Amino acid sequence: MLRYANKCEHSAHIWIRKRGSRVTTVVIGGGLAGCAAAWYLARDGVEVTLIEAGEVNQLASGSNAGSLHAQIPHEPFVLKGEGWGRMFSPTVRLLRASLAMWAGLEAELDADLEVKFGGGMLVGQTREEARQIAAKAEIQRAAGVETELIGAAELAGRAPYLAPGAEIGAFAPIEGKANPLLVAPAFARAATAAGATIVTRAGKAAIVRERQGYSVHWTGGSIATRRIVVAAGAATGPLLESLGIHLAIDAVPIQVSVTELAEPFLPHLVYAAAEKLTMKQARNGSVLIGGGWEACIDARGRPYVNAANLATNLALACRTVPGVASLSIVRSWPAIVNGTDDWMPILGELPAAPGIFLSYVPWLGFSAGPAAARAIASMVQGKVPEMDVDFRAFAP
Ligand SMILES: Cc1cc2nc3c(=O)[nH]c(=O)nc-3n(C[C@H](O)[C@H](O)[C@H](O)COP(=O)(O)OP(=O)(O)OC[C@H]3O[C@@H](n4cnc5c(N)ncnc54)[C@H](O)[C@@H]3O)c2cc1C
Repeated sequence: MLRYANKCEHSAHIWIRKRGSRVTTVVIGGGLAGCAAAWYLARDGVEVTLIEAGEVNQLASGSNAGSLHAQIPHEPFVLKGEGWGRMFSPTVRLLRASLAMWAGLEAELDADLEVKFGGGMLVGQTREEARQIAAKAEIQRAAGVETELIGAAELAGRAPYLAPGAEIGAFAPIEGKANPLLVAPAFARAATAAGATIVTRAGKAAIVRERQGYSVHWTGGSIATRRIVVAAGAATGPLLESLGIHLAIDAVPIQVSVTELAEPFLPHLVYAAAEKLTMKQARNGSVLIGGGWEACIDARGRPYVNAANLATNLALACRTVPGVASLSIVRSWPAIVNGTDDWMPILGELPAAPGIFLSYVPWLGFSAGPAAARAIASMVQGKVPEMDVDFRAFAP
């Protein structure tokens, strides 16, 4: 049972809350980034209050495809080139560190998160795709992600679910999947048990600069603080703009589909080099099909499924893994993902707003969530994150 506070319990203003000499740290956003940051801060003994506009896990963190990635995403690698791939290496290290944390997360949070590491298989159909995949694998390996290149002859035996004719597979054994519906709530529960306060249904919180530090205002409450973690996902842009801070970040509607239940036949997270595709079979047998195809936005700003992109995505899935062709799609849904053009995370204290720490991992924030949150929790406490990752690459 979660012990969230709601706005009724916070109808009075809460001014500086002190326990000993400590002043509460405020986390804005109750997705994976915010809930995990609250947990690592609370576990370290930091007093923390998380403010969530609606319900915990209501947006991208609870609507994503559940892939645990470590490979460099293929489409930007092809579009932006090998130089970009090398620039992306620190993110690969962050993903690797995060996947190592995912391996221990169920024990850490005492929760079943349906984490499974079956490995990820990127499939190429042409000589050119094979060349790009091999170049990318070299960069990944240098960043510590074991990547095996599998030729056509062996691929049929290793991945019998694939359509015949594949030229190459790039297999990263550390990749996997988890159930997004379970993860942020488990972090929220752990954070609450460790002493964090979580305020839900708070409406959009706003930050105001004060002579000393900041105040955070939400429906029914406000709090003064010197340290804020902004973990607002796709809503980060408007929140920072209200402070006069403009970052080159995007909010992009994308869509995912899920099939009816099937017997287990897809042990890997599967990608296609030809076009955007991710596929994986969840523990219950359903197959999730995504890859980042864009959805639409209605006049009120709400995302809805783009039927043409859905058809393209599903056709690609059937061409790559013919076994899904006979399965019915039971649901397709859109959600808004936090993006950046260069795909690089932004993690750290904002130079234009000392005391405000941004936790923003674009496109891959589910995979990288635990490590990013652990790192931000360290930074908030003035510590250097203990990970083999160059965090200077992510400085805001
Ligand atoms: C369809 C889809 C599929 C994806 N698939 C994958 C995948 O397979 N693997 C992967 O690694 N990543 C995937 N992603 C990306 C990943 O889901 C996101 O990068 C990640 O969940 C972002 O987490 P977050 O906590 O930063 O943001 P969110 O989960 O969006 O949470 C932000 C929270 O902040 C709250 N909030 C915002 N503004 C305010 C405010 N002013 N006051 C109070 N609260 C506020 C929101 O209500 C929200 O709950 C996918 C994303 C989408 C949309």
